[in-house]
Amino acid sequence: MDASSFDHILRKVVIVPIVAILVGAGILAWQIQSASATVTLIQTQDERINQTLGIEQLIVDQETGLRGYEVTHDLRLLQPYLNAQAKFPETFRKRRELAATNPARQKALDALRSAHDTWEQSFASPLISTIQAGGDTNDVALNYQGKLLMDEIRKRIADLNVTTVHAREVAVEHWHKQVRNTIFFLIACSILLGLTIGLYVRRLIKQVSGAFRQSHNVLRIRAEQTFRSEEKLRTTLKSIGDGVITCDAEGRVQSINDTAQELTGWSETEARSQPLDEVFAIFDETTRQPLENPVTRVTRSNQTVRLQNHTILKRRDGTEIFIEDSGAPIRDKHARLVGVVLVFRDVTLAKRSQQALLANEKLAVAGRLAASIAHEIHNPLDSVSNLLFLMDGVATDEERTHFLLLAKQEIARVTQISRAMLSLYRESKAPVKIDLREMLDSILLLMEVRFQTLGVHVAHDVPGGLCVHGFPAELRQVFTNLLTNAAEASGPGGTVKLAALPQPARNDEDGIHHDEGVIVTVEDNGPGIPENILAQLFQPFFTTKGERGTGLGLWISRGIITKHGGTIDLESSTAEQHHGTTISVFLATNPTINPAPASS
Ligand code: ADP
Ligand code: MG
Repeated sequence: MDASSFDHILRKVVIVPIVAILVGAGILAWQIQSASATVTLIQTQDERINQTLGIEQLIVDQETGLRGYEVTHDLRLLQPYLNAQAKFPETFRKRRELAATNPARQKALDALRSAHDTWEQSFASPLISTIQAGGDTNDVALNYQGKLLMDEIRKRIADLNVTTVHAREVAVEHWHKQVRNTIFFLIACSILLGLTIGLYVRRLIKQVSGAFRQSHNVLRIRAEQTFRSEEKLRTTLKSIGDGVITCDAEGRVQSINDTAQELTGWSETEARSQPLDEVFAIFDETTRQPLENPVTRVTRSNQTVRLQNHTILKRRDGTEIFIEDSGAPIRDKHARLVGVVLVFRDVTLAKRSQQALLANEKLAVAGRLAASIAHEIHNPLDSVSNLLFLMDGVATDEERTHFLLLAKQEIARVTQISRAMLSLYRESKAPVKIDLREMLDSILLLMEVRFQTLGVHVAHDVPGGLCVHGFPAELRQVFTNLLTNAAEASGPGGTVKLAALPQPARNDEDGIHHDEGVIVTVEDNGPGIPENILAQLFQPFFTTKGERGTGLGLWISRGIITKHGGTIDLESSTAEQHHGTTISVFLATNPTINPAPASS
């Protein structure tokens, strides 16, 4: 049931009883009206009876006055007769008026009047005249006639009274009936009204209560569903392996799950309503500067943000862990930002194993290099001992000077190799300016024997004066990896081309700015890389070389290049005519260097 039908029912509940009561009241008013008309009728009948009584009284007065005058012959006693005679016409007229609606009664009245007139004219007036003339009043015939006339009058009056009284009785009876009817109607009407209103309202209330029960049920089910889903959400959040913190739009903590409590060192009760900065204090691994609160970043950008992956979380007890995290906006149904959810995880272990892997790869590279270096050093040392042997035996000064020069050259080569070897592991703390030609030449020098063993010819075209800023040992590792891969792929008789090209600052077609830098390419004419393994190349431990490979070279190289703010791209073809692989490394001249090697 919706709100409008509910209103409709409420209106009906009020209006229907009012209408029913009004109808009942109307009928009652009509009944009272007709009862009061009956009362008026009774009053008129009373009036008529009174008037008739008045007439009767006047006639009695006349008869008594006449009788007194007849006996005493004293005029004073005739006075009541005269008074009554004077009043008679008016009284009679009034009585006749009251009978205006009843012709039969008018006729009876007229007959009464004429009987009275006859009595006056043929008995009363002659008798008075006789008395006044001093005549005889004992005329029996006259008196008897007078008596007969008077009897006639009395009879008519009595008749009139009887009909009037009867009419009054009828009216009174009618009135009683009306009153009874009214009472009956009142009782019946009350019962009927009560029943109708009761049943009707009961029906409506049943509808309303049905609807109420229904909506109550719906609400209950919804509440149960909400409770269940909240419970599920709570359990999910509780058991999730990542730390989850939710904040309101002002950046105050609203909830914090078990993992987040463990990682931050704040319990839920302590953390609730605290500013996020307090609970989730993050800063940069190298600069040690506090990092912008993710809630502020999400609020500003109004979209999901990821933290840089060298973020450190300072726990409540002061210990530090590496974390990786993301923040996402929480929106209401009007898409307004009402909060932010923060998801983060402890990557300290991963970070450590990554560092261990890096060290491992360095060791592997160093191990592989050690063999070639031993070989490399062995050759000049062999020459030196041969030269010393010759110098010992041969006497001429000229020859000795020549051998000494040759020995010096051989020793210089050994020194050069050992210096190159040393610089491979001499980590600089800050990026330094690197002359690319110098670095690449020294790498080639170290790898010379290896290339020879593999039967690979190396062509290089690196112009002088190309400089970038970076960590030389790390970049050496990159190019050693790339050159090794290329040489191994090319195989005997193959060619590896190493080239470098300056790249001026530019804006590409998407309007993105690219800094000034150098592109170093390592190209081989090996078999190329099949498409199905391209996607896995940069993943750690992916190798096609079995025991001989570590599968870390490309992964680490990309990490180092990304750290240097550069890019590494691979192009490969397995076509029969032009097979081979080209790897291009872009290094910016003045990069913003990310402190930790990143890999993904
Ligand atoms: P590894 O050299 O120890 O195998 P890398 O990470 O350096 O590990 O290389 C991974 C894989 O990529 C190699 O095993 C190889 O199959 C492939 N690969 C890398 N460089 C080349 C290349 N220049 N030509 C063909 N395949 C290559
Ligand atoms: Mg490799």
